[in-house]
Amino acid sequence: MKYPIRSAAADPLAWLALAVPLNFAFSRALGAAVRAAVRRSGGADRYEPAFGLWTCCGGQGLVRRLDGYGGGTTYGSTYYLAAGDPRSQFGRDFGARLTHEAAHAAQWLALGPALAPSYLVAEVIGRLVTGTPGCGNLFERWAGLESGGYRC
Ligand SMILES: [Zn+2]
Repeated sequence: MKYPIRSAAADPLAWLALAVPLNFAFSRALGAAVRAAVRRSGGADRYEPAFGLWTCCGGQGLVRRLDGYGGGTTYGSTYYLAAGDPRSQFGRDFGARLTHEAAHAAQWLALGPALAPSYLVAEVIGRLVTGTPGCGNLFERWAGLESGGYRC
């Protein structure tokens, strides 16, 4: 019996095996770039081992736009919050919020650079369906709406 010879390029698992380390490297590099920009503008960062996530906060000027809508944004392996240290900003909800942001970090690992446009498309569709920011976005629903601070 002859087995068909398939090119590695036609094997989806071969692409996945390549994508995982590339997405990991991309996620780490993106997170490191955000932390470096925040540190340069006077902000601070910290690694949260319980969540496998870096947090960074503060800073001056353009870097504060990385926050998004005021609740912070996760870029690769790093969660940025302009308002200040997430531990003091979220208090007893800190664990829930970082669990939410760690889910976004996992989304970066799964999709790599494709997460950004995918997230934007999901947000546009979600807003058309629900009329509310975040509530219909598949990525926010996956990460957990309540722990993300969404009131839907
Ligand atoms: Zn979120």
